[in-house]
Amino acid sequence: MVSRKKYLLSGLGLLLLLGMLGISLSSFLVSRESIRSQLTDSTLPLIGDTIFSEIQRDLLRPIFVSSLMANNTFVHDWVEGGESDILGMQRYLDKIKQNYGAFTTFFVSDVTRNYYYPDGVLKRVEQANNRDAWYFRLRSGTDEFEINTDPDMANDDDLAVFVNFRVLDSEGEFIGAIGVGLAIRSLLSLVDQYSDKFDRKIYFADKQGEIQLNSSVHGDKSNILEVPGFESLAQNILSSTEEKRFSYTRNGSEVFLNSRYIDKLGWFLIVEERETRAMYPVTNTFIFNSLLSLFIALSVLVVAHRILNRYHKDLEYSAHHDNLTGVYNRQFFESVAKKSVEHTGRRGDSSCIMFIDIDHFKNVNDQYGHIAGDSVIEHIAQTVKSSIRKSDLICRWGGEEFCVILPDTLQHDAVELSEQVCQAVRDTHIQFEDTSIKVTVSIGVTQRIAVESFEDCLQRTDEALYTAKNNGRDQVCTTSQKDNLTVLDRSDAA
Ligand code: GH3
Ligand code: MG
Ligand code: MG
Repeated sequence: MVSRKKYLLSGLGLLLLLGMLGISLSSFLVSRESIRSQLTDSTLPLIGDTIFSEIQRDLLRPIFVSSLMANNTFVHDWVEGGESDILGMQRYLDKIKQNYGAFTTFFVSDVTRNYYYPDGVLKRVEQANNRDAWYFRLRSGTDEFEINTDPDMANDDDLAVFVNFRVLDSEGEFIGAIGVGLAIRSLLSLVDQYSDKFDRKIYFADKQGEIQLNSSVHGDKSNILEVPGFESLAQNILSSTEEKRFSYTRNGSEVFLNSRYIDKLGWFLIVEERETRAMYPVTNTFIFNSLLSLFIALSVLVVAHRILNRYHKDLEYSAHHDNLTGVYNRQFFESVAKKSVEHTGRRGDSSCIMFIDIDHFKNVNDQYGHIAGDSVIEHIAQTVKSSIRKSDLICRWGGEEFCVILPDTLQHDAVELSEQVCQAVRDTHIQFEDTSIKVTVSIGVTQRIAVESFEDCLQRTDEALYTAKNNGRDQVCTTSQKDNLTVLDRSDAA
């Protein structure tokens, strides 16, 4: 029974737990899927869009200003005039710088190759100098302008975005390059703003894969093509200017990535977000749900365990007890009584057995009805029970007959007790509805003989009861140990 109960409870617990965990897990997986598609399809592309349009907006004005500068006849005339009034060019460049809040302004003359800036002549551009490659690229190209990012020599090599415009004279001949430089701090702060909040990494890589603005995401690597495990993705990103969406694993966690090419900068904008971070709320909910499931499963188990215990006890009680009187039933009594009597015998002590039968009970039923009869049986059981010790065993042997085992008791004491029971019943007025019913009982008592079997002793007790009945009822009879029936008492109330 115990192991079956254990199986039942553990099966129930396991079923509950698996069911609830299954529900939590499936909702976790559904949420994860939706977060993943949200990340790749909307969040990251949206951040890319925003940064992209901010950059476009930031570059529009400098492009316009640079275009104005390139078409200004003052510049054309100044070059034609032999570039003698350097101060005039300085003033012009400084005015533009102040007016438009540029980081720097410049003009490179193709005649002298002088690099003019608001403070004078910075240097001469030379084909052999790598840092001047932009100028010769612009000079030999056909594009109206070019944007590039370079350290600005005029400003302690701070990184700046330059808008370089071709300056053409009235015949369309290339006479130099002019434009403005912008500090990219504003761009950096925009990137930081998007990066910090949600553990997103936003960085730029040029067409060669060199990381610009931000390199922290890939440790000390400055080129995305050199990042271990990222090479093939990097090649894919750099292979075309189309927008791309990927996911890859970095340090054991899934990372979602969106890349797009920013035409004006010639850079790829790459936005990454770790799934773990985006999954925090869902993971927390999953953990909470799992713990809740565990708690509910355990609570249900505790309740089920209690109910089963209770049910088991109830079952055990009704298997051992008589429904009407609450004393032991005959089946259970026979098993424990036999053991009790034999155990007492082994110790060298003696037990006594009593058979108690209600006299003329049929008349009670006939006169007051069966239900009244039941009530009488119940009362007699209680009367007997209240007269015996806790260690004594009482059972309802049959209809209106009770059997009592009195361990460690001598016949003399058993007879005395039986007399008291007889007297108590005699004195009892059993109230049933408006009627008071009086009954008597006959009792047979025997003391077990040392070698006697339990069954033989019962038999002798039954005979003693039979004698009590024959002798006129409402009395106690016993048998001698030599099977001689002896009337010990004959109640004068009979
Ligand atoms: P005696 O003095 O010889 O014992 O006479 P008696 O009428 O008590 O004995 P008998 O064995 O002839 O009748 C017992 C009656 O008890 C018969 C039966 O209908 C009734 N009886 C047995 N069990 C129950 C019960 O559970 N409830 C009620 N109300 N009556 C019962
Ligand atoms: Mg009877
Ligand atoms: Mg009877």
